[in-house]
Amino acid sequence: MAGRVIPLVDQRTQALVAAAHALPASAGGRLLDRLQRPLTDLRISVTDRCNFRCSYCMPKEVFDKDYRYLPHGALLSFEEITRLAHVFTRHGVRKVRLTGGEPLLRKNIDVLIGQLAALRTVDGKALDLTLTTNGSLLARKAPALKAAGLQRVTVSLDGLDDTVFRRMNDVDFPVADVLIGIDAALAAGLGPIKVNMVVKRGTNDAEILPMARHFRRTGVVLRFIEYMDVGATNGWRMDEVLPSDEVIARIREAFALERMPVSTVGETAERWRWAEPGVAGEIGTISSVTKAFCHDCNRARLSTEGKLFLCLFASRGHDLRALLRGGASDAEITGAIGGVWQGRSDRYSELRGRAEAVSGSGERRVEMHYIGG
Ligand code: SAM
Repeated sequence: MAGRVIPLVDQRTQALVAAAHALPASAGGRLLDRLQRPLTDLRISVTDRCNFRCSYCMPKEVFDKDYRYLPHGALLSFEEITRLAHVFTRHGVRKVRLTGGEPLLRKNIDVLIGQLAALRTVDGKALDLTLTTNGSLLARKAPALKAAGLQRVTVSLDGLDDTVFRRMNDVDFPVADVLIGIDAALAAGLGPIKVNMVVKRGTNDAEILPMARHFRRTGVVLRFIEYMDVGATNGWRMDEVLPSDEVIARIREAFALERMPVSTVGETAERWRWAEPGVAGEIGTISSVTKAFCHDCNRARLSTEGKLFLCLFASRGHDLRALLRGGASDAEITGAIGGVWQGRSDRYSELRGRAEAVSGSGERRVEMHYIGG
């Protein structure tokens, strides 16, 4: 089945080592890329496996029983992840999100969380440490995650109607179990909890209002995500994207909303509060397709096997695992990451549809479960 394996990105160890020598070994936390964007967020994919088969992410037809996942030895170990995360903090990273695949499938994930929770930012503060999950294992794991030092969780949930939800996850997983997971996370103190709903026109857009109604008074922050053209397997079509403006218009038919000001640079969501006395809480929209936010994207992504990606829509990564396993010092890795970030000019979503983005190198884009959502 070799032909069905998503091709791996290239190895650019030599270039990385050259970059390592070009930069000072100590980083001061003020690294800027070619578009003057700082590096403040790191997303780490801890496994390429998932127990769901959402058609927009890991469609069953591709990710079937013959699909070859990465062997365990190819994955970064917890020690390797923590070592890299430490180096990233020296460059200014303040927020780390664990993702995947389904991160709660990674054995002893709480041990990794404990290690990451001990890291500090350049100003000596604790990291903002969070995790994105489909919620299927949350009921069982929430207390241990909290005890290990996880601060918050984001749960993906694409609808409340059980039939719609089971069809979307495509493994017949019941919505009730995810809701129990969300409650368990709340009870464990992993809040404020965010719930991400990917909206596909004609598939689950009838769930927008029920979801808004359900989470409105719970303190959970519901965010509607435009269906994106990540990877190369989901058969993405623009006519299945429901623009965020339409999501908001539909909610406004039932509830008054008020736009909230931007609170942090690099915030991906446009935020709205319920404009009703006595109703606290907010919702958000993430409009990667209709309102690209590349101009202040401050996120780096570390793939399951240790490749550094500068954009969710990239085809190639930079092989940090080769540096780690080749005996590079922290100073060399610091320099390498700095050099790569300084050369970054990625802004795929802003260029989407233009020749530069479409033709690109002609290479296949990396899949979301591998690079981390
Ligand atoms: N398994 C975890 C989960 O379900 O949250 C983490 C990984 S998942 C790839 C991370 C997020 O990416 C989820 O919220 C998922 O809905 C979102 N996602 C995946 N494919 C997407 C797509 N094509 N468009 C928009 N969001 C997508």
